[in-house]
Amino acid sequence: MKTFYNARHTLHQGKLEMFRGALVPCFEVPSRVDHVLAELQRRPLGPVLSPQSFDDSVLASIHSQRYLDFLAHAWEEWVALDAAHAARDALPSVWPVRTLRSDVLPRNFAARMGLFSMDAGTPLTAGTWAAARTGADCALSAAQAVAEGDKAAFALTRPPGHHAGPDFFGGYCFLNNAALAAQHLRRQGVERVAVLDIDYHHGNGTQACFYDRPDVYFTSIHGDPDTEYPFYLGYADELGSGAGLGANRNFPLPRGAGFGDWREALREALQGIKTFGAQALVVSLGLDTFAGDPISGFQLDSSDYLQVGADLARAGLPTVFVFEGGYAVAEIGVNAVNVLQAFQQQAIRSPGGSAGAGTA
Ligand SMILES: [Zn+2]
Repeated sequence: MKTFYNARHTLHQGKLEMFRGALVPCFEVPSRVDHVLAELQRRPLGPVLSPQSFDDSVLASIHSQRYLDFLAHAWEEWVALDAAHAARDALPSVWPVRTLRSDVLPRNFAARMGLFSMDAGTPLTAGTWAAARTGADCALSAAQAVAEGDKAAFALTRPPGHHAGPDFFGGYCFLNNAALAAQHLRRQGVERVAVLDIDYHHGNGTQACFYDRPDVYFTSIHGDPDTEYPFYLGYADELGSGAGLGANRNFPLPRGAGFGDWREALREALQGIKTFGAQALVVSLGLDTFAGDPISGFQLDSSDYLQVGADLARAGLPTVFVFEGGYAVAEIGVNAVNVLQAFQQQAIRSPGGSAGAGTA
């Protein structure tokens, strides 16, 4: 499988995030992707490629124009307020909660930071836009490869994307790479697309992008939002709305869940995808389900990810993998490539279910 690698990911390097009442060094660091790239060099799965460039208008298929305009120029605005800002990242500190207006676009920069964000854990830096924009190209390129017949492709990028909604950033995410990939598959003629989110945290942004749509099925296995980020979405009773009713399925699991329970949820999620009649799959590949993750609470070990990859391959769908979270940095390369390698090996053993005629 081809890997589309975002070489500009290092341009986004947050200094501090708000965590449990303190400003602490960011968990979402460039070495996360470096470890995956190094493991792909030890266990090659196919070519590692630069993405092709897609037009900015493609982003507007998922994100609002006023949000994109803000993100593209936010750093310049931040530094224009005070030259000293160049030495520190921008973090939001005020938000339009219930009864406050989110339809007006305030001139004040801090007010717009709050309008377009959901937490204070996601610093916006000098290189955020460049890194996120190239990451979107990676996801779109991987979707393009699968649309053209590849059995699978991998978008290796950061910052991650699945918490970013149509008009907000948060959870270390700015542009929703998985949603962009799913939408691109739709645009290329795939009529029914499924997004499976296996990051420890619920993919609230992706769910929000497709919640009222019948053509994109979203399903997620994650820590119960009753205790785990993002808290305000990801419950089992969220089934979609309007024409999208029935095309959303959440599997919240208690903190501490082991691989047995997790794999049973995966089996049910894949059954839902099959019943939906998906013709292609986008996997939000977070590795923070790992037992050693510093901010998460499931108990998967490195060998479990081999089973995950094989289970995903047995779904028999052309698959776009999009890199998401995972903060046990030293192990993230092995864990990510375990999923991908096992997927590729299983897909070669049982190629019959694939809708694609192309290469692995
Ligand atoms: Zn996560």
